[in-house]
Amino acid sequence: MGINSVDDLQYQCCLCGDGIEKSAEGDGQVDPCAIVLIANWSKPEAEQASQQFFCHLACFKKTVWHNGPVDVELLVPFAAGDPDVS
Ligand SMILES: [Zn+2]
Repeated sequence: MGINSVDDLQYQCCLCGDGIEKSAEGDGQVDPCAIVLIANWSKPEAEQASQQFFCHLACFKKTVWHNGPVDVELLVPFAAGDPDVS
């Protein structure tokens, strides 16, 4: 059976190794997320290279140290006013 659309694609979280369900509750509202790793970031863009890794937003939030909370509203700007997304 082949992949017919993007809805048929399967994603594996690079942080926990589990599969990512697109319609999960809670933080899953924006899953699958992707982390973009940029090599040689301080060098000119022509010398940079990037790779994307899929992850659960929940795994990113509990794994990565950062200065502040992940702002889900910034990740879902089109959802303003949608009572199912807060
Ligand atoms: Zn995960």
